[in-house]
Amino acid sequence: MKVAIVGGGVIGLSMAYELSRRGHDVVVTERERLGRQSSWAGAGVFPASNINTAIHPLEHLEARSDQLHPVWAHDLKQQTGIDNGFQRCGGLHLARTAGEKAALAGGVGEWQRRDFQTVKLSPEELKKRFSALRCAGDESWVAWWLPGEAQVCNPQHLKALVAACQINGVKLLENCGDAELDRNAGDVVGIRIPGRGGETITADAYCITAGAWTQHIVDEVPMVPVRGQMLLYKLDAAPFAAVVNEGSRYLVPRADGHVLFGATIEEAGFDTSTTAHGLANLQQHARDLLPALTEDRLVKSWAGLRPGTFDGFAYIGPLTGSENVFVAAGHFKAGLHLAPATAEAVSDLIEKKQPKIDLRPFAPARAMILP
Ligand SMILES: Cc1cc2nc3c(=O)[nH]c(=O)nc-3n(C[C@H](O)[C@H](O)[C@H](O)COP(=O)(O)OP(=O)(O)OC[C@H]3O[C@@H](n4cnc5c(N)ncnc54)[C@H](O)[C@@H]3O)c2cc1C
Repeated sequence: MKVAIVGGGVIGLSMAYELSRRGHDVVVTERERLGRQSSWAGAGVFPASNINTAIHPLEHLEARSDQLHPVWAHDLKQQTGIDNGFQRCGGLHLARTAGEKAALAGGVGEWQRRDFQTVKLSPEELKKRFSALRCAGDESWVAWWLPGEAQVCNPQHLKALVAACQINGVKLLENCGDAELDRNAGDVVGIRIPGRGGETITADAYCITAGAWTQHIVDEVPMVPVRGQMLLYKLDAAPFAAVVNEGSRYLVPRADGHVLFGATIEEAGFDTSTTAHGLANLQQHARDLLPALTEDRLVKSWAGLRPGTFDGFAYIGPLTGSENVFVAAGHFKAGLHLAPATAEAVSDLIEKKQPKIDLRPFAPARAMILP
């Protein structure tokens, strides 16, 4: 079967990887460079999950991705030689204010309901395991340890996906401008690519994976771009392996001493620039949490657009009234995590197989209720 994919972020590349492994003939058309938008800008943190206690389809999507990530990391390395940095590094969750403590208590209750492994750390244990943190040993902080959290080095993951797609014979078209659907009396009959002289690609199935820009291609699915600014530091060595979370802020140490600190949550349209205020605020929080993150250790900063939806669920499924046009977009803060299970489910739909996950909460058609 021939499948044409619009948008080469982690979702489009994961779709191409999965479909090409199943023997399909795949073409991806990307407006700019492959994997340089939200998927590059993100942190690559994966929350804990548990397939045995998953109830809601979103919990199943999370848990299935959690199963697939180590397998994909292994297979991608075997095939391409690129290590995507996947590691089950665990996550430390901290709270200092009354509000943060209440929110963390709620989070712990939910993790325990889902039977995730959770460990409360005493001030002494926190000091022993995370001596580099400013709060180490401070009795006024609350600390919980979640061994199930993981991380991937997303730029490496994207490189590995591109390399694997190339090996599998996927046709990757970069710098092609804004692709559009070619419709005939409502039916999609091809994808028009301006960067290739207006050439139209025809296929048996089409998949729209254009992240925050998806609504520009199919206006049936409203999207909200939510900007996240991020800092990158370089220390001589990783202070610890775990992801550290406090409220909406997090610190992600990479094995080579790089440390990511993020992220802001802002509605600023499609503007991907950073702001002096946003960066200053992040820098202050970063130093406050890990004193080693001084200004002279700052390497660079950037911003990316999380693809948000009106109800917080991604759009995963066929476009309303269509049997061969699929949408996989709107994964907001979790697209790097949810990409493998999304790719598996949409590939099943394209092959007219029953997906492992109940996709009804993700149906693009639900947006039709909106005024
Ligand atoms: C600061 C930040 C931190 C994050 N942290 C995490 C995290 O820790 N864990 C996690 O799982 N997720 C995280 N995310 C979210 C995650 O990055 C996104 O959910 C995910 O990258 C979305 O992938 P995507 O492929 O849908 O979008 P994108 O990566 O944005 O890709 C869409 C692609 O489509 C292309 N495109 C758009 N329109 C067209 C067109 N008309 N024709 C052709 N191509 C087009 C774009 O150029 C782009 O390359 C974070 C995001 C941000 C911004």
